[in-house]
Parts: sequence; C-alpha cells; structure tokens
Amino acid sequence: MERPVNFSAGPAAVPEPVLHRIREELGDWDGTGASVVEQSHRGAPFLDLAARLEERLRRLLGIPRDYRVLLLQGGAQMQFAAVPLNLAGEGGSASYVDTGSWSSRAIDEARRFCRVRVAASSEEDKYRSIPSPEKWKVAPGSAYVHFVANETIGGVEFHEVPAPDAGGAPLVADFSSNILSRPLEVGRFGVVYAGAQKNMGVSGLTVVIVDEALLDRAHPLTPTVVRYADQARADSMANTPCTFAWYVAALVLEWIEAEGGLAIMAARNDRKAARLYKAVDATDFYQNPIAPACRSRMNVPFLLAEKGLDEAFLDEAREAGLIGLKGHRSVGGMRASLYNAIPESGVERLAAFLSDFERRRG
Ligand code: PMP
Repeated sequence: MERPVNFSAGPAAVPEPVLHRIREELGDWDGTGASVVEQSHRGAPFLDLAARLEERLRRLLGIPRDYRVLLLQGGAQMQFAAVPLNLAGEGGSASYVDTGSWSSRAIDEARRFCRVRVAASSEEDKYRSIPSPEKWKVAPGSAYVHFVANETIGGVEFHEVPAPDAGGAPLVADFSSNILSRPLEVGRFGVVYAGAQKNMGVSGLTVVIVDEALLDRAHPLTPTVVRYADQARADSMANTPCTFAWYVAALVLEWIEAEGGLAIMAARNDRKAARLYKAVDATDFYQNPIAPACRSRMNVPFLLAEKGLDEAFLDEAREAGLIGLKGHRSVGGMRASLYNAIPESGVERLAAFLSDFERRRG
C-alpha cells in the first residue's frame, strides 16, 4: 500500500530510502551483530559514524574550518538558554528580533540569563512580515543578534542573511525548520543551531555550529552539557549522545548528497512552495496572510474561509492520502510543511486536493 504524504511540521517526514535503511539495519548495524541503539558511543563503529556525520555536514553546508560542529540534546529550546549562557557571559546583553512565536519564546527564555533588547519586531503587523534589517536597533555592546530564520508556526522566512548595523555583534540564528533546505553561508554567523526533527531526521539531536572565537565567553554557571567549549573539547560526548538520532541524521545527509546536494534541494523546495502558494492564492476560499516576500518555503499555513469546514478538510485529506495538515494549535487552520523529504509529486497531489475540495465544498 502506498504511504500517505506526511506534511507534519515536526517531527516530520523522513525520506523513504532512509526509512528503508533503518528497517533493514535495525537488528544488525554495520556488521556489528547489534543494533545501532545497543552499542557504546565510544566504540569504533559509532565513532566512525560520528566522523562521517560531521564530515558530510561540513561538506554540504561548506562549514569553515574555524567553526565547531556540536551535536547536542535538549532541542532548539535548550539553545534558547544555551545561547545567552554561552555568549553573553556574566551581566551581558543581547539583541533579539521578534518575528513570531519561536522568536518570542527565545526572547522570554533569554531574559532569564541576560539583558535582552528587542531590536525589531513585526508584532504590530501580526507577524506577517519581517522588519527591514537596516532598521534594526541593535543595542550597543550586544553580545550577539538573534533571529529565527524560519518561523515554523507563522510561516515567515528570511530569504537573505540580514546585514544590520550590529556594531560587530555576531549573528545567531535558529534554523530548526529550514536548515539544509538550501545552501547556507555559515561564515556570516557566530552560531547557527537547529533541531533535527524536521530536515535532519528525528528528534533528540540539535546541531550547533559555532565560531571557535566565541567559545570562551560562557557564564561560569553554564552546565557542562550545554557549554559549547566543554562539548567541543569532548567531541559532543560530554554526556551520552542520542545515538539513534545521530545515526538517522547521518543517513539523511547521505541521502541529500546522493540526491545532488543543497542546490538541488533548494530548487525543488522553491518549486514546491511556488506550486502550493499558487493554489492557495488562486481563490478566496484559502488564505495565507504573509507578505509574499517573506513567505516560508518550508511551512505554509492557510485558513479556510469557512472555519466550520476544517474537520471535513482534514478528514477528506486523510482519505486522499494527505496527512499532518492540521495547523498549530495556537493559530488553527491548516499548515503544510514542505521539508526536503516531501516529493514534488506530493505537493502536486495536495494542490489538486485543494481545488477539488473547494469545488465540492466551496
Ligand atoms: N525553533 C523553531 C523554529 C521550531 O520550529 C521549534 C520546534 N517546532 C523549536 C524552536 C523548538 O524545538 P524543540 O521543541 O525541539 O526544542
């Protein structure tokens, strides 16, 4: 039986060839006679996997040599605390840009650890746009400038690396929902971080890519497992890593390379998003309120003109083999997430379903 197309925002669809590999290898991994989840992270086979994982990530993202790659736990939300702890030191301050739910959460968490200045916010515009970086008011002396590269709930995405007047403060960005969706200029950031459960496999792993020059700034009370310098020194094994998530991430990166790399992913993702926005914009029956220039390629939230039809929409979509479309509980409506694992044919099916549903119910 054909599997449904899964538009879940995260944990999200994993490329099918990766699922097949996991199924095949789960009992006996790499000729070791044991599952990957049953063996020491310090054994040679797992250390080899760790090395390949980092190597692939470095190759795909073109990560400069003077950046460290950390593979941590705690999700992106742990980084909401880890970033100020590691970068703002004692009594430091940082500037944040507020473009929606996840940046607001990052701001609230950072306030526990440092002085936060909100350099810009699109709240007054109901988070439908991104404040122009030239107008960001970065506080003098900020340890860094933080933004969320893709707002998974609101469906707002930065399509360029912002270049605000930051007085030399490094950019720090949460790429949880758009990492590996297109090439990234890591060298323009101080820290890039992302949870794995959307475009890098399964939950339990958070990738943190950090400029080595920033490793000496931590608050003295920073716990070892979230302290970048300690984790860098320990090759991300200051505590027992989430071995299964590392394993899946390694397979996903292998799949991306086999498909042709990030330029290919980017081209596909552009086409997928364009196709779906075209279907949503074609009629008043569906609405996406985000300013076209900052619409997310990864998460496409949309409302039905008649709210009473939400349940019917989801039920009929499921029958048509389209799942994971329910919007985030804070905004309602629908959301289709179009991460790398979603094939263009899946988006085509969703677009066809949209017009079919409207024809029958509109
Ligand atoms: N940032 C962004 C952009 C996200 O989409 C999410 C999860 N959906 C998070 C942070 C939080 O991730 P976690 O709950 O895994 O910590």
